[in-house]
Amino acid sequence: MSASPVDEGLLRQVADTLEQHRHTVVGLSHAIAADPELAHEEHRAMDRCAGVLEQAGIEVERGAYGLPTAFAARFGSGDTHVVLCAEYDALPEVGHACGHNVIAAAAVGAGLVLAPLAEAAGLRVTVLGTPAEERFGGKVDLLDAGAFDDADAALMVHPTPYDEYGPRSLGIEEWQVVYTGRASHASAAPEQGRNALDGLVAGYQAVAMLRQHLRPQQQVHGIITHGGDAPNVVPERTEGLFYLRARTPDDLADLRERVRACLQGAATATGTSVEITPVGHTYLPLRPHAGLVGAFTDACAALGRPYTPDPQGDGLGGSTDFGNVSQRLPGLHAYVAVHSWPAVNHQHEFAAHCVTPQADETLLQSAGALALTALAVAGDPGVLHDPDPTS
Ligand SMILES: [Zn+2]
Ligand SMILES: [Zn+2]
Repeated sequence: MSASPVDEGLLRQVADTLEQHRHTVVGLSHAIAADPELAHEEHRAMDRCAGVLEQAGIEVERGAYGLPTAFAARFGSGDTHVVLCAEYDALPEVGHACGHNVIAAAAVGAGLVLAPLAEAAGLRVTVLGTPAEERFGGKVDLLDAGAFDDADAALMVHPTPYDEYGPRSLGIEEWQVVYTGRASHASAAPEQGRNALDGLVAGYQAVAMLRQHLRPQQQVHGIITHGGDAPNVVPERTEGLFYLRARTPDDLADLRERVRACLQGAATATGTSVEITPVGHTYLPLRPHAGLVGAFTDACAALGRPYTPDPQGDGLGGSTDFGNVSQRLPGLHAYVAVHSWPAVNHQHEFAAHCVTPQADETLLQSAGALALTALAVAGDPGVLHDPDPTS
């Protein structure tokens, strides 16, 4: 038997510090849950997180990296820099039904635990408030603004019904597709018309035929949002929305090329033209990092956290802007169970589950495990070694 990979002394320090902050961390989670704010409007959630960190003597920059509801709390020094991501945006109608209150409090809690330990561990820590995950892709803006430039690893947890510490997700890209033809009298002078609805329908059909020959988990779904204005006018302008999803950046690039060919071929066939405009940021697929998943798994085991896998799980979740982070640098996006099944994310019932004593326990264990994982990154360069850089 090998010894536990988690140092006993550190484990005790982490557990003790966490216990001291239990009330504050759980209180933060519940306060955010009770006061949901939508993407890019999370001013009070940012203030709550910042307030807790400042109370512990940590300096916080609010409105960091040009985003009014982002913050950065930085401490420690040394060669290793770990970023802890705190999401805190909610959803319309269902509030904190994705449990981002747990994410924020876990990141802040990990920060509180690491504050007295970072210096000695040679660890630089940034607790990064990352707004607008549910819409707009705030982390893509943060990446572009350099928030992760000198980071060695980025860590976060996300509450879900079951545990899955190294999940995958599909990347997603949204396209607005506009066909332009020429209007004409549909009966008196149809030969002068170029039918933009035919363009869009033919494009849609071509995509439907393409589906059979796609790689596993390459997906396209489209709708027609404007199909013309009057049956006796040859449609001049039509519009659709398409989502493209894939499991790897390469699959997404391949899909992009093939769907574009379908839509352009349809324009050629119908004598129309097509304009394709991506909407918002592309969310890239999550890229699990085996070393970080291993360190987090060891940390959870050391803290006595039971592992509850999804009995039917394929380890493939929805889409997240952390995918873009994980494609740029080693990233951990661990799904942590709040034992809500059959309630799942984005349901009212899930929001209720994210403030139960069970969720609070998950939150505290997650904070401790994130802190131990950050310390493992600083203490063992092997953790960041990726045995499979092509995955
Ligand atoms: Zn969500
Ligand atoms: Zn979420």
